[in-house]
Amino acid sequence: MPNFFTDNKDLIFQFERLDLKEVVQIAENNYEESKKYPYAPTNYEDAMENYRKVLEVVGDIAGNYIDARAGEVDTEGAHYKNGEVNYASGTVENLKQLSKADLMGMVLPRRFGGLNFPTSIYMMATEIIARADASLMNIFGLQDIGEMINKFGDESQREEFLPKFCTGEYTGAMALTEPDAGSDLQAVKLTAYQDEKGQWFLKGVKRFITNGNADVHLVLARSEPGTKDGRGLSMFVCYRDKSVVIRRIENKLGIHGSPTCELQFNDTPAWLVGKRKFGLIKYVFDLMFRARLGVSAQALGISQAAYEEALKYAKDRVQFGKSIYNIPAVTNILLDMRTTLETNRTLMYAAGTAVDIKEKLEELVEKNKAEGKNDTELNERLKSVTKFANFVTPLAKYILTESANKITYDALQIHGGTGYMKEFRVERLARDARITNIYEGTSQLQIVAAIGGVLGDILKDMFDKKEKKEYPGGLARLSEILKEIRVIFYDSLKYVVDKKDVSFQDIAAKDLVELYSYIYTGWLLLDEAEVNERKKFIANRYIIESLANARKNAENIKNELFSDILHADKILI
Ligand SMILES: Cc1cc2nc3c(=O)[nH]c(=O)nc-3n(C[C@H](O)[C@H](O)[C@H](O)COP(=O)(O)OP(=O)(O)OC[C@H]3O[C@@H](n4cnc5c(N)ncnc54)[C@H](O)[C@@H]3O)c2cc1C
Repeated sequence: MPNFFTDNKDLIFQFERLDLKEVVQIAENNYEESKKYPYAPTNYEDAMENYRKVLEVVGDIAGNYIDARAGEVDTEGAHYKNGEVNYASGTVENLKQLSKADLMGMVLPRRFGGLNFPTSIYMMATEIIARADASLMNIFGLQDIGEMINKFGDESQREEFLPKFCTGEYTGAMALTEPDAGSDLQAVKLTAYQDEKGQWFLKGVKRFITNGNADVHLVLARSEPGTKDGRGLSMFVCYRDKSVVIRRIENKLGIHGSPTCELQFNDTPAWLVGKRKFGLIKYVFDLMFRARLGVSAQALGISQAAYEEALKYAKDRVQFGKSIYNIPAVTNILLDMRTTLETNRTLMYAAGTAVDIKEKLEELVEKNKAEGKNDTELNERLKSVTKFANFVTPLAKYILTESANKITYDALQIHGGTGYMKEFRVERLARDARITNIYEGTSQLQIVAAIGGVLGDILKDMFDKKEKKEYPGGLARLSEILKEIRVIFYDSLKYVVDKKDVSFQDIAAKDLVELYSYIYTGWLLLDEAEVNERKKFIANRYIIESLANARKNAENIKNELFSDILHADKILI
């Protein structure tokens, strides 16, 4: 009986390392919630035990049921007929099972039927589900719509929508993208207008909308006539009634179980969420923290599945009289995959914890505001945590989704010709991974989001502190390497800054972000290696490889590899 939580030692390692004391204390209102709800935890240990049990349930459903249906879901896919979308039959079963287990409102408040869990735990559930079926994660992950309504909607909207999100009766969709507004959401055209009674209506087209057949849609729309940028956009919630026409669903490379819809809103009644004009600049911006985490967790789940497939296949496959697992070139690929997988998980839950802390501090600040209080220290802390989350979430999304593609590529390679065949699940995983570095902001846009933190040396204090620490034995050598990478980083950064050329800075951003990520992730791994003997191998491979990569990143920058961009028109014939 496979359980995708309990069989994953590294996930359990990360679960046990989570430090959510402050987060849980705030979420549980100093454990006062337990007086109202008998199943709410009475202390931190109780809460962690509760999370563990729920993750075991998720692991059981994923390992024993969702995983078994994933192949059929991929083959059948979601289908479209006469303007309606039907999920693949396996998806229907999966959603029923998740709803029955009360897993569709994981982060929503208890008063609406939710579990009131931290985001990090929800992300662990997301990873587990994506390992079984990446396409299901999309629908499961759209619980975020409920969380957006909870956070920015008013009480009547919460009461209207959230209870049915928690039971799984409603699923959600996030309608941002349009034919001419993809990465650049400031270009959104879909119009929101009001009648004389003040009722809002939506008119226009959205495309590439995951689960566009959902009951409830959050829609980014232009509410301010005559505007052209993000300041004219507001967020609306609406039901998918008859006025919302599903024009088609996309025929995609992967995640076949997740319908991707083109939608036509024909004067659809809608309600403003939060404040007018804040749709993009505040609410979508905020949504991105969780959306990036969600896709990172999806990429991690796919990576885990691909690694498992590759390891199993390598052990079974015999060539030249021995298992290919014992051929050093193959073993080396597996070691690289495993190192990346575990490193990514470390980064994933560092980012998850950052978002958890940010969200809970926000709640405290809001509470203070409502009570007319002002806690300057808390406000400052929130500012700094938000800055960090704003750096670490795009970093995680960039690293985890790019490497999900690499891990699935390597897993397929280890399968040889067999990997190219439909009978083996690794080809599905490779197809499913491909979307992760595109949606919720492409990798290029994650670099744009992360570079500010890198240019501002956001982790300077952390790095200074780590450099002063004495590590035992072989770890001391690795800490010296991290110091060396930092020197390389500063050297490259200075080169870029001194050039005072914005275009050069834009192109060098990818190398700078990668350089910075080696240092940050490297220190996180050293901390893990201090408490876990096996993790020394992971830290060793990652840090040594990072030094080689860092030198290459620096060479790219300092040798001005990109200078030929000036001649692009001559080269790109
Ligand atoms: C399967 C699927 C599901 C989706 N689900 C949803 C959903 O539920 N809701 C929703 O609103 N949207 C959804 N999307 C849309 C998705 O978020 C966009 O496709 C994505 O953000 C990229 O936008 P685009 O496709 O218009 O590409 P473009 O913005 O046209 O980008 C094309 C290329 O140009 C690059 N580029 C663009 N601008 C820059 C820049 N400033 N710097 C560097 N490079 C740049 C991009 O990185 C990319 O490589 C989905 C898309 C797919 C494929």
